[in-house]
Amino acid sequence: MTKPNIVLVCASANVHKVNEMNALLADVVRLWARPAEMGDIAETGSTLLENAVIKASAVVAFAHADALADDTGLEVDALDGAPGVRSARFAGDPPNDARNRALLLERLVGVTNRSARFCTVLAIVRVDGTIVHAKGICEGTIAESERGNNGFGYDAVFIPRDGDGRTFAELSSAEKNLMSHRARAVFALRELLPTP
Ligand code: IMP
Repeated sequence: MTKPNIVLVCASANVHKVNEMNALLADVVRLWARPAEMGDIAETGSTLLENAVIKASAVVAFAHADALADDTGLEVDALDGAPGVRSARFAGDPPNDARNRALLLERLVGVTNRSARFCTVLAIVRVDGTIVHAKGICEGTIAESERGNNGFGYDAVFIPRDGDGRTFAELSSAEKNLMSHRARAVFALRELLPTP
């Protein structure tokens, strides 16, 4: 395979996300790790797109290179779309995946409508100021309790509708990549990039 000539610095410091995106984009984009000396980026936007652009723009300013950022939210219908854009800090600061999952299950005790969806927005911000963005959605339901040890974040409580009843955390990363919100956002983004 020839090396793709699009090079992007990845704004995410989350190794799980970077691995997922690398697996999905390797043939069209060379993804570089975010500079280790770069501090946390405050996610002050009110939408996933605003946050993705904030994160990518911060990397552009720091690294003087084109950047890719993603922002993901879990929308639960019985909670009027919460935690949504606040998914990372659902159970407070600092972000904690285990506490977020526990709070979500607690809020849904006795609730029969457990429908939910993951949404990911990916944004490329270039040094010249241009922005390309795409969205991916994965519909599903919230499990009654945690299941599985793979993945991260809310994976152990999310059952994708296009799967076989297992949570994301019970799937291999290859299985998750067939149907996940992030994979769908990557496929949509690929359509907007020049072919190698
Ligand atoms: P962010 O996009 O890193 O701000 O993520 C928001 C929240 O969603 C964090 O709590 C993440 O752990 C969680 N999250 C993001 N992507 C996924 C995923 O693919 N599976 C499960 N949880 C995720």
